Amino acid sequence: MDILVIAAHPDDAELSCSGTIAAHVAKGYKVGIVDLTQGEMGTRGTPEIRLQESENAARILNLSARENLGFRDIYFKDDEEHQHKLIEIIRKYKPEIVLANAITDRHPDHGKGSSLATNACFMSGLRKIETSFEGKAQNPWRPKFVYHYIQNDLIEPNFIVDITPFWQTKIESILAFRSQFYDASNSEPQSFISDPEFLPFIEARARELGHRIFTKYGEGFTKERFIGVHDLFDLK
Ligand SMILES: [Zn+2]
Repeated sequence: MDILVIAAHPDDAELSCSGTIAAHVAKGYKVGIVDLTQGEMGTRGTPEIRLQESENAARILNLSARENLGFRDIYFKDDEEHQHKLIEIIRKYKPEIVLANAITDRHPDHGKGSSLATNACFMSGLRKIETSFEGKAQNPWRPKFVYHYIQNDLIEPNFIVDITPFWQTKIESILAFRSQFYDASNSEPQSFISDPEFLPFIEARARELGHRIFTKYGEGFTKERFIGVHDLFDLK
């Protein structure tokens, strides 16, 4: 796996970094998503519906893999038990790059998912932490980079990915989560994200970030360490 996206809830990845996912899949990179919870505390939908929606979005994004760890929505912790399960996944897929939740956000699971991913990525490189997959001992693996996508709260990004050619794919992957967004025929209670104004906000965010790199749509990320370049012309 080239890029593994770690997300607290099914739909976090689609809302925050699906344009970047689509851009890299189009270049031939293998990208997968691991959702930590089934989002069962969400106002709308059920775990079963959201699992089906996740699979639909995975097809739209052409993912190489999508898994759900079934951690408890809201109540999961950044502790040894959860770190251990995530280390197994990191060692299984051996990603070069991990995209993780926003470092801090309105929803407490996002900041928690962020620190859990950061810790698990580091710990996964420690050979004395022993894990196994399908009965076989796993080798240590530390991803080269962990970047954090930006979610509800606007965090100043360290870099922005141009997602203009993949804007439609991003929207389609978001709308795969039909139970979560505005649908006049849905009689479930309104939620923060089912408001008809939510998707225009997502577009405004992408346009604002795109504007800052002189393109139409963008997705922003923060880094954990300095990024080096060989060629100044690689920068846009
Ligand atoms: Zn979320």
